[in-house]
Amino acid sequence: MPGTELFGAEERKEVNDVLETGILFRYKHDAQRNNHWKAIDFENEVKKITGAKYAHAMSSGSTAIATALAASGIGTGDEVIVPPFTFIATIEAVLFVGALPVFAEVDETLCLSAEGIKKAITPKTKGVCLVHMCGGMADMDAIMKVVNEHKLTLVEDAGQAFASSYKGTYTGLFGKAGSYSFDFFKIATAGEGGVLVTNDEETYKKADVYSDHGHDHIGAIRGMENHPYLGFNYRIGELNAAVGAAQTRKVPKIREINRKNKQFMINELSKTPGIGFARLADPDGDSATFLNLLLPDVETTQRTIDEMKAAGVAGFDYWYKNMYHFINQWDHIKNMSTVSKLPIQILGAPQDYKNLDLPKTQNVIGRLISFGVRVSWTEEQMKDLAKKISECFVKATKTVNA
Ligand SMILES: *Cc1c(COP(=O)(O)O)cnc(C)c1O
Repeated sequence: MPGTELFGAEERKEVNDVLETGILFRYKHDAQRNNHWKAIDFENEVKKITGAKYAHAMSSGSTAIATALAASGIGTGDEVIVPPFTFIATIEAVLFVGALPVFAEVDETLCLSAEGIKKAITPKTKGVCLVHMCGGMADMDAIMKVVNEHKLTLVEDAGQAFASSYKGTYTGLFGKAGSYSFDFFKIATAGEGGVLVTNDEETYKKADVYSDHGHDHIGAIRGMENHPYLGFNYRIGELNAAVGAAQTRKVPKIREINRKNKQFMINELSKTPGIGFARLADPDGDSATFLNLLLPDVETTQRTIDEMKAAGVAGFDYWYKNMYHFINQWDHIKNMSTVSKLPIQILGAPQDYKNLDLPKTQNVIGRLISFGVRVSWTEEQMKDLAKKISECFVKATKTVNA
């Protein structure tokens, strides 16, 4: 949680600006707000880092990805290719705009592969909701080739990949629209918040309207604005945006330290044969929020986890079994347990979610152990951690081969 590690005076100052005027709402009230526009500041900070033409702050990364899908024209009955390794919000967003998720294979980048996407395409495929996982990025050259060849709409959930890029372009800016999360666990936090980015003016306008009950935000009187489309309330409040703006200013520094610490750990761990790492499609573009180990096989990985638990090693995720980020844990999707009927329950699911055949994904995620990189790590702590991980791995290898 690097953002929360650097919480301090800058965030308090931004919040106090808002508390002094009491204008907690992001729109209008020009005379009372003493020139404080925190949602706009937050959006400008995100634009500064990513180079996005348009950024729109919202209540969460979940509402930002839902809005990105809707504003990109994805809706009821459209098949959308999704990864089985992501935070559940991606799949919920696809389902709640009425679309039909089609699960495809991820590869060692931890993201959908071009090959996986290609195999999942049917005549009903409208788009791809690509997720850049664990601080890294998908293999964009190969993926864009498939997307363009098949004229698919690309939407990117870069919830965990703010400030990561591929060959100079920031994640979230390859398709029609993208989203970042600023929840409590990301590289920067707003407490709760999300930002939609796009380089397309029309998509931005739709997102702006959709995320605020259809308001077009033109004119001096909010109650008299025009409403070109139906929308809902996905607004961010000024208090959250204030924190988001202060945190986002710290991201270049956080990323620099993350990269240094991650490289140190990789250098240490690479001394042990057999310990490998997830593939970065562009090593220079890593936001480095996660150190992603890829071990030789699933059994060795599970034994390494057991050894690490016994040795008191903490701060890692084994998504394959113990986290809500992998399809093996999504019984509610397999059983389609919903509180009320969704379009997919009338239209029919495009795949049998209980019997998906995703061997490559099962193998990659089964071999993956992710450590959250901390900005506060000292060299001594890192050396100690790397030594413990290596020892646990070596022990695990011996028991598997025994
Ligand atoms: C965190 C996350 C989200 C959800 O963001 P919230 O701000 O918690 O709603 C969506 N997608 C991915 C990939 C995430 O990691």
